Amino acid sequence: MAAFYEEKVLAVHHWTDSLFSFTCTRDPTFRFKSGQFSMIGLMIDDRPLLRAYSMVSGHWEETLEFLSIKVADGPLTSRLQHIRPGDPVLIGRKPVGTLLAETLLPGRTLYMLGTGTGLAPFMSLIKDPDTYEPFERVVLVHGCRTVGELAYQEQITRELHAHELLGEFARDKLVYYPTVTREPFIHQGRVTDLMFSGKLQADLGLDPVERAHDRVMLCGSPGLLADYGAWFEQGGWVEGTNTRQGEYVIEKAFVEK
Ligand SMILES: Cc1cc2nc3c(=O)[nH]c(=O)nc-3n(C[C@H](O)[C@H](O)[C@H](O)COP(=O)(O)OP(=O)(O)OC[C@H]3O[C@@H](n4cnc5c(N)ncnc54)[C@H](O)[C@@H]3O)c2cc1C
Repeated sequence: MAAFYEEKVLAVHHWTDSLFSFTCTRDPTFRFKSGQFSMIGLMIDDRPLLRAYSMVSGHWEETLEFLSIKVADGPLTSRLQHIRPGDPVLIGRKPVGTLLAETLLPGRTLYMLGTGTGLAPFMSLIKDPDTYEPFERVVLVHGCRTVGELAYQEQITRELHAHELLGEFARDKLVYYPTVTREPFIHQGRVTDLMFSGKLQADLGLDPVERAHDRVMLCGSPGLLADYGAWFEQGGWVEGTNTRQGEYVIEKAFVEK
């Protein structure tokens, strides 16, 4: 059995010159947990070219969705950015990852901090009632350079609220905090600075972050993860794993080569 499914692209949406998303068919036997990633890609010269991608879709959705960067000379995305409805895409059969609600101890506020395409796993997580159950509120922070890169704003602020099953969770518990670094916007600044300075909590009328009550999920650049790694270590935060619940979990949104 091949290590991947061959699916068909259903729709493509270009958010900016450097960011797009697409949906594709989903094999009914492909199961994943909200927040996981899988290897996806294209057949190039009869060989699979695959990269890690987080699922944007809820685990219960009939189709799959992915949010992708466009790297001009990137082996995969220089090609993937040109896909059209009807084209084949490869989806790895083995989803993995640690950004799972079950890896965290229950708490007061769950902070989901994503930069750039690091939003992707959180899109899946906010479409899962199990994400909300252990927490009083879920704060989704998305940091980008420009407003155009703040993908899925409409889905987060409107569609989810109106959803038959998820609407109640989203209305009661989900707080969305988009921020950009290079343009004027309602919230400005780097996710790290906003969190560490306490501005984000002040803006939302929340108490300062405390290890005793709060939980953090992080998905971003290697630099962002390094900044937070040091902060968590200093504060004595316990990292959650697939076998032990903790106070925070982190995952790279990409790897620097
Ligand atoms: C666990 C994990 C999950 C990932 N999930 C996603 C996802 O949901 N969406 C997505 O677009 N990418 C994701 N990536 C990155 C992805 O695997 C590829 O690196 C990306 O698709 C580019 O592939 P490429 O072959 O075109 O270029 P690569 O050779 O893979 O990358 C070239 C360079 O581009 C930059 N780069 C790569 N990916 C990104 C990115 N996402 N944002 C900013 N800069 C980047 C890096 O500097 C990298 O060195 C994930 C990576 C990991 C490790």
